[in-house]
Amino acid sequence: MNIILLGPPGAGKGTQAARLVAERGMVQLSTGDMLRAAVKAATPVGLQAKAVMESGGLVSDDIVSGIIGEELDRLDAATGVIFDGYPRTAAQAQALDGLLSARGRSLDYVAELEVDEDALVERIVGRYTCAQCGAGYHDVFKLPKVAGVCDVCGSTAFKRRPDDNEETVRTRMAEYRAKTAPIIPLYEARGLVRRVDGMADMNAVGAAIAGILDA
Ligand code: AMP
Repeated sequence: MNIILLGPPGAGKGTQAARLVAERGMVQLSTGDMLRAAVKAATPVGLQAKAVMESGGLVSDDIVSGIIGEELDRLDAATGVIFDGYPRTAAQAQALDGLLSARGRSLDYVAELEVDEDALVERIVGRYTCAQCGAGYHDVFKLPKVAGVCDVCGSTAFKRRPDDNEETVRTRMAEYRAKTAPIIPLYEARGLVRRVDGMADMNAVGAAIAGILDA
């Protein structure tokens, strides 16, 4: 099974992808995570992407489609894939079709997380993760049980994404509206889109996605 999780920044794509990985043994391909790793490692791709990411703009289609192709080549054919944060433009959607068909894969569903944009800014600017294990927290919605200590691994080091500030978030939303939302009708025409209420609590969203995959 190959699915795309689609929705604006902060819609919960990463959270839901992690859940599908844990529950179904699928693999999450997050271009955002891959690009952040490339920036951290100061690879040529990372050096090119850093400033664009910090501004909230989109990295070039060729770069992201290139890294998705490389990641797909690492997987065996039976492993299901969740595309998280990719494709984000019509050119990427077209590239993905080619990457999948060249590997004998095809798309099963595009799950669109529908969300209220105003709520997203609050979600995003408050979010942070454990620097050790990656567990997710939020200043308002999900504090650790013991202040300053990760519930999962006990670490006391946390981090925030540099692009999770209000100004950059507004740019990321505008990019989503201008370049990513227009690809939804293309998938709709192929009967692949399933809508999910992304404002529901994360367990309800997870259950809705599970319902789609098991239909
Ligand atoms: P994300 O973690 O998905 O929110 O992505 C963080 C940032 O990485 C985005 O704001 C973009 O600058 C860049 N990025 C991630 N995925 C893509 C993509 N598919 N196309 C272009 N830029 C991307």
